[in-house]
Amino acid sequence: MIAGIPMSIQILPEEVASQIAAGEVVERPSSVVKELVENSIDAGASDIRVEVREGGKGSIRVVDDGSGVPADQVELAFERHSTSKLRSSDDLERITTLGFRGEALAAIAAVSRLTFTTRSAAEPAGTVLRLEGGKVIRSEETGRPPGTTVEVEDLFFNLPARRKFLRTERTERRHIDSWLTSYAMAYPGLRLTLYHDGEMAFQSPGSGHLRDVLVAVYGLEVGGALLEIVPDEAQAMDGARVAGFVSPPSLHRANRSYITLFVNGRWVRDTRLTYAVIQAYHTLLPGGRYPLAVVLVSLPAAGVDVNVHPAKAEIRFKDGDAVFRAVQRAARATLLARSPVPMATHLPSAWPGQATTWAGQRREQLVAAGAAWTDRLPALDHGQPDLPPPADARARPLPPLRVVGQLGATYIVAEGPEGMYLVDQHAAHERVLFERMLADRVKAEVASQALLEAKTLDLPPESAGLLEENLQALLALGFDLEPFGRGTLLVRALPALVAEEDPRQVLEDAAAALAVDDRPLGERVEETVARQVCKRAAVKAGKVLSHEEMRELIAQLERCTSPRTCPHGRPTMIHLSVDQLARQFGREGP
Ligand code: ADP
Ligand code: MG
Repeated sequence: MIAGIPMSIQILPEEVASQIAAGEVVERPSSVVKELVENSIDAGASDIRVEVREGGKGSIRVVDDGSGVPADQVELAFERHSTSKLRSSDDLERITTLGFRGEALAAIAAVSRLTFTTRSAAEPAGTVLRLEGGKVIRSEETGRPPGTTVEVEDLFFNLPARRKFLRTERTERRHIDSWLTSYAMAYPGLRLTLYHDGEMAFQSPGSGHLRDVLVAVYGLEVGGALLEIVPDEAQAMDGARVAGFVSPPSLHRANRSYITLFVNGRWVRDTRLTYAVIQAYHTLLPGGRYPLAVVLVSLPAAGVDVNVHPAKAEIRFKDGDAVFRAVQRAARATLLARSPVPMATHLPSAWPGQATTWAGQRREQLVAAGAAWTDRLPALDHGQPDLPPPADARARPLPPLRVVGQLGATYIVAEGPEGMYLVDQHAAHERVLFERMLADRVKAEVASQALLEAKTLDLPPESAGLLEENLQALLALGFDLEPFGRGTLLVRALPALVAEEDPRQVLEDAAAALAVDDRPLGERVEETVARQVCKRAAVKAGKVLSHEEMRELIAQLERCTSPRTCPHGRPTMIHLSVDQLARQFGREGP
């Protein structure tokens, strides 16, 4: 071709067209698992085994006990747009199966080496079909019990660019784990078993009770604490029924990835519905914390359009507002009805009047509980951390400040040459700890504290996977962890800053932080985790501080490189300049 002169228009060869189409359906190994398991569910299976090797790059095998495919239809199932689930465009209005596009098998076969073994219960023998890059290379009769086994090997072998861009084995595993445990929640009657490289990683009990699945995924402590959503008859009349579980306000995570949504048995990503859940916790959770939830919405099939996205992860509602309201109300009603102490973790937002009273009430208790948090302040004689110079205006150094007093047990009032400063004690302490921790990390000097007794913890496979994937980075921050397989970790040491905290909470925080950052490489991982550790370690709002403690904290803050924001980017202080004060008091004039 000569540059600038376009090629003539031609229909693409079938092989190229099917590879392009395949790319939309099969993005990564977890999409293969998703499509195959959905087919098994549609086939009425009650027992599904998923065996993954090398995070899916090696092979993915899905074995089910469903209806199987009659011998004379097996090859047809691999044609593009071939499906047993949809006949006419009218049917699109009332889809009750997970599949309907008739694309998945064709797409997966086009980009892998695939073996499909199946037997319909009505037939005496089964069929085995072998395809490579979408071409049938073998088809013969075989004996097997009713059901289907699909084995996908060498995914993307004929799309080297796609194969090259697959993430690490760990990351792919994590996607598969997350996706499969979600489906286990939506189908508690299913027995779903997952193996990674020959080792069982997860099994759902198949008892039909969602609570049992939650315990299998999150462990007894968390799974047992989740609150079952109260059924709402009025909403059901409207057409949207909401079931599932939400966390009590005392249980929360650092990001929203623990909110799982299903609509008519289909896992969906929907920012609005996620927000509906979060909103139900309005004023009940500390800032920057999110609930855990499994929300199962059922609607008449005509109320949703599932045909929006090739991977079927997005849907459209006829009446999105009604669904939003139904979810938000169901969650809120559950919290109000079932939550043990609804307001326990909530700090009053009205300020300062209320906060002062609140602080007064709590004062004794806080003082009594007052372990020496100043122990957590780095000693002053360490000298300046060797960090890069301030990059922007927010990083302007602070003038020397004089502490005046404390407000609402939450803010430090200070005076400087340019007026008054209100410093958020928690945010300020977070900043101090964060800069120190990163500076120590550079020198490989982060203080680590061994637990009196090494502790084994069972974590959700996803969290454990994330931590295992980042052992080195975590080690540099003072975590000493050893993976024991199947979501179990042996904890030997924690960063000294959080050595007194509940190790499970600390690890879940770290995992949640890692889950947000999808690029677990180098510096960034460590910063994300450090931020979370410092957040937990920093002095809380509501803690009464002595004058000495406040002076110490402000002195530390003055030495920070970016004293004006906390590591999460929120301000550590509000500044009222002398000018502003004068204006407010009507003192300005000629
Ligand atoms: P869709 O699920 O959208 O119909 P697929 O390409 O995923 O399209 O599958 C094509 C057809 O193959 C299905 O409609 C179904 O009839 C058959 N099929 C696929 N997997 C299975 C299975 N595990 N058990 C029984 N039938 C299956
Ligand atoms: Mg399908």
